[in-house]
Amino acid sequence: MNDLHDRHRRVLPDWLALYYDRPLEITHGEGRHVWDAQGNKYLDFFGGILTTMTAHALPEVTKAVSEQAGRLVHSSTLYLNRPMVELAERIARLSAVPDARVFFTTSGTEANDTALLLATAYRRSNTILAMRNSYHGRSFSAVGITGNRGWSPTSLSPLQTLYVHGGVRTRGPYASLDDTAFIAACVEDLKDLLGHTRPPAALIAEPVQGVGGFTSPPDGLYAAFREVLNAYGILWIADEVQTGWGRTGDHFWGWQAHDRNGPPDIVTFAKGIGNGMSVGGVVARSEIMNCLDANSISTFGGTQVTMAAGLANLTHLLEHDLQGNARRVGGLLIERLRAAAAQDPGVREVRGRGLMIGIELTRPGTDEADPDRAAAVLEAARAEGLLIGKGGGHSTSVLRVAPPLSLTVAEAEEGAAILERALRGTR
Ligand code: PLP
Repeated sequence: MNDLHDRHRRVLPDWLALYYDRPLEITHGEGRHVWDAQGNKYLDFFGGILTTMTAHALPEVTKAVSEQAGRLVHSSTLYLNRPMVELAERIARLSAVPDARVFFTTSGTEANDTALLLATAYRRSNTILAMRNSYHGRSFSAVGITGNRGWSPTSLSPLQTLYVHGGVRTRGPYASLDDTAFIAACVEDLKDLLGHTRPPAALIAEPVQGVGGFTSPPDGLYAAFREVLNAYGILWIADEVQTGWGRTGDHFWGWQAHDRNGPPDIVTFAKGIGNGMSVGGVVARSEIMNCLDANSISTFGGTQVTMAAGLANLTHLLEHDLQGNARRVGGLLIERLRAAAAQDPGVREVRGRGLMIGIELTRPGTDEADPDRAAAVLEAARAEGLLIGKGGGHSTSVLRVAPPLSLTVAEAEEGAAILERALRGTR
């Protein structure tokens, strides 16, 4: 154990996940690469943790942040804040939410917490529908609605949460059904649930489950759910913390693949928009956002320096069509990874959309998860200069690939070749 690792262990919580037997200290980055304290270079196929959306040390973001920091870092929400208004205007437009209001937070957890506050106040109900296997953050309320059991065994959240089938297509009671029958079964399950409870305030769902192993329901599930939700006046909250900003390639927001009936009632976002700066937030139509009878502040939400990062990062993303790049390069990468895993009896599935690709490992010939092999693949890839992620909670045997959206074809080929060797070496 090196000195920093030892000091980390003595002062930080045991439950703070740390990758690798010999954890890395990353000291700098550029483009799709990062370097550790020993000077080793790595291709970053996890984009920080889906936070480096465009590229490490993107010059426009660095310039915007340093210029803003030289003028003013923060003034609080008690005063008018030009970059905050400008970023809110752009996100409101991009969200397509009618008469949208945007509230900035410092994390995805706080964004979801705010969405829950809004939904429960608006609907006057503290019952929430959430998806099995979901992850929504680690505040008291977010853990309380998180379906991924690995994260919430100790929660005593006062929210009543009802878990809905459908987030995971490949496991669970309806796994053998085709897509249409699967959606019909999940809708019946939802109706059945609603027949036995006070009307919940909202359904919260990740369009593609992130921590849960990059699993996606069949397209159309949330549109079918919505018809049922509308009949009960239940709000639909899309947690776009991992799926927003074009990461899934075909769509700017993950919900667009699943629900053609227009935007959800509430959208939450974080991770990539600040390119590593702590920017999260909530979009909701004004009737919902303004239902709180409060006169409140957010001390660090929307600080000038983080908003400057968000604006520069979003401008770069749109001007360089990084969503299109995610679709094209992601399409190629998933094909390469499928080919690499084709003969591997321990790979159950290579799945994904755009630059959000999961490789699920199971013990050969069984349905049993194989977290030891996943950890071994991470180590083997790292030894060859490639960083990837894995799922959390009960999805730790899913390898997660989510590079910055500017990934080049050559980098995709290089990373796929390393992963192919890492898979072969750990069979
Ligand atoms: N929602 C989703 C879908 C997430 O993946 C995460 C984090 O991984 C969160 C919420 C929580 O975000 P944060 O870690 O910024 O609090």
